[in-house]
Amino acid sequence: REAILRQAQKMEAVGQLTGGLAHDFNNLLTVIVGGIEGIRRAPQDSERIARYAGLVLEAAQRGAKLTQQLLAFSRRQALQPKVIDVNALLTDFQPLMARAAGEAVELCVAPAFEPACVRLDPSQFESAILNLVVNARDAMPNGGSVTIEVQRVDLRAGNVAKADPGPYVVVSVTDTGEGMPADVLERVFEPFFTTKEVGKGTGLGLSQVYGFVRQSGGQVRLDSVVARGTRVRLYLPAETEARPEAERPAAAQAEGGH
Ligand code: ADP
Repeated sequence: REAILRQAQKMEAVGQLTGGLAHDFNNLLTVIVGGIEGIRRAPQDSERIARYAGLVLEAAQRGAKLTQQLLAFSRRQALQPKVIDVNALLTDFQPLMARAAGEAVELCVAPAFEPACVRLDPSQFESAILNLVVNARDAMPNGGSVTIEVQRVDLRAGNVAKADPGPYVVVSVTDTGEGMPADVLERVFEPFFTTKEVGKGTGLGLSQVYGFVRQSGGQVRLDSVVARGTRVRLYLPAETEARPEAERPAAAQAEGGH
């Protein structure tokens, strides 16, 4: 009986993984299709075509990276977290996020004033942020704004995680969308929970975000007010070592992943 249960749990994990990847690919395809539509709408505008082609290429390259991750997983290689500055990563990632947000949504990225280094898997982080931006867009069918803000906070006296009081890098994604009633808010992190119509939502976006942030030693906070908007905050343990990975001694690098 236990073996059957274990097998069922394994199947569930595999289902969640493949579903999560399908969800990520779907987000990337949204960018690719949107980019190609943009090109077709302005066949004479070479500057616009170059800009859209750049976005399509970037999304396709990220898709290729995701496939590599899947291959790495099937070979049972753990993903290797790296020390990254969230400010720089989000700034580089802004054009792709803007494309995912769509033209009706104003995207604002506000980096922290000081370096915001964390140790995590950069592609997983990008997938998580893209999931949050797509959710924000879907919550604002008539347009609105989504603000991504990075802050460094010290929670020595705080209540986020008593075992690890900080410092944290907080990435918040705030939209001015329709918000969520309490019964939805309660269930958003459940895999496959979605209020979107068939074909639009898989219910895996926020469970990917949650799983990834927990794996990185962080916490997710969610506040939402119906008809006002939603704020998702990712508390990620700050890396006190501000030096980039390449400059670290080899031994320190090797002990990294779990
Ligand atoms: P999906 O987006 O595929 O439905 P998620 O796990 O990302 O899956 O989200 C689950 C549900 O949570 C959504 O269907 C939606 O009802 C709600 N939700 C998530 N993000 C937001 C948001 N920013 N504003 C309003 N509702 C949201």
